[in-house]
Amino acid sequence: MKYGVNEQGYYGDFGGAYIPEMLYPNVEELRQQYLRILNDADFKAEYDQLLRDYVGRPSPLYHARRYSEKYETNIFFKREDLNHTGSHKINNAIGQILLAIRLGKKRIIAETGAGQHGVATATVCALKGIECVVYMGEVDMERQAPNVARMKMLGAKVVPATSGSKTLKDATNEAMRDWINNPVDTHYIIGSVVGPYPYPEMVAQFQSVISLEAKKQLLEKTGSELPQYVIACVGGGSNAMGVFYHFLDDESVKLIAVEAAGQGVDSGHSAATTFLGREGVLHGSRTILMQTDDGQVVEPYSISAGLDYPGIGPQHAHLYKIKRAQYVSATDDEALQAGLLCCQLEGIIPAIETAHALAHLEKMKFEPTDNVVICISGRGDKDLNTYIKHFNF
Ligand SMILES: *Cc1c(COP(=O)(O)O)cnc(C)c1O
Repeated sequence: MKYGVNEQGYYGDFGGAYIPEMLYPNVEELRQQYLRILNDADFKAEYDQLLRDYVGRPSPLYHARRYSEKYETNIFFKREDLNHTGSHKINNAIGQILLAIRLGKKRIIAETGAGQHGVATATVCALKGIECVVYMGEVDMERQAPNVARMKMLGAKVVPATSGSKTLKDATNEAMRDWINNPVDTHYIIGSVVGPYPYPEMVAQFQSVISLEAKKQLLEKTGSELPQYVIACVGGGSNAMGVFYHFLDDESVKLIAVEAAGQGVDSGHSAATTFLGREGVLHGSRTILMQTDDGQVVEPYSISAGLDYPGIGPQHAHLYKIKRAQYVSATDDEALQAGLLCCQLEGIIPAIETAHALAHLEKMKFEPTDNVVICISGRGDKDLNTYIKHFNF
């Protein structure tokens, strides 16, 4: 694959594994084993069966008629919101738990910010009867109490991270510390296309089922497996990588990634990584991240917890730099308006993350014959309070 990873774990200038010496054995074991396991017939059969019978795949490709009328083109929603647990994150969580079992691991750890990845991880651990520990910033535990309750109901232990800003990056540090101390029996499930190689590649492969299905579905619905545009929101970038993956080599397909501008790219309260960021190392890989002149990570801000991340995955950094994909952003307000429009035109309440992708439609011009695929990464039930506060329902 032209845009794929090389043997050293790099996409162009980005990627690699920048990890402390103590983590080397864990990451090296994964690097040596993951391809063999992912290509194993028994693994594939179990993964496909769970995606079908447990997650509910294939997710529909829905021709959004009223959206198509409004934007005078043909708009298709790839409905990851209909997956069990309500987003694309379960695709990756299932893949990694099956991998962990085949590596002989007895215990799963994860970190979570908003709790979505924590819930997906706790879900698959319950499914497989495996011990699950989720690290979460103390502040986030208060902000996301319903997800903490979900994880506990699913049998996970939720451990508060009490250092620093008591948010996602502190939870990540705690999870890393745990993994260093438990290298033999524990697997660390990372929730996006970030982290040291092989995580970004592994997660992208698990999420690539989204574009694999979309191609087939487009062929049935439009007579061509290639659309003119594919649009997705980007936090770390896993739903975007999933929906881009099988279109990467089809250069006629324009790929558009929408970041969270927060209160505006120049407001000081933003998560528009490619606009504000520079090259550097974040969470174990070389990528683009928001940082100060002396290399301190800048606190990101977005109204959507899933996009509130200071970097992007290394493959996105590469696609941005070589201009294979276009990176744009939408503000909190633009996203909330777009979320409301989706409710009223299509009867679908999208996650606020997803609403960022929808918001970009307002800034585009289409031909009536264009086919446009938007990844509806998740449903908006979890965001009801934010919508209520904003619109005074
Ligand atoms: C977590 C999440 C995202 C952002 O994560 P990516 O890795 O960028 O996909 C987007 N949408 C939803 C619904 C999420 O839960």
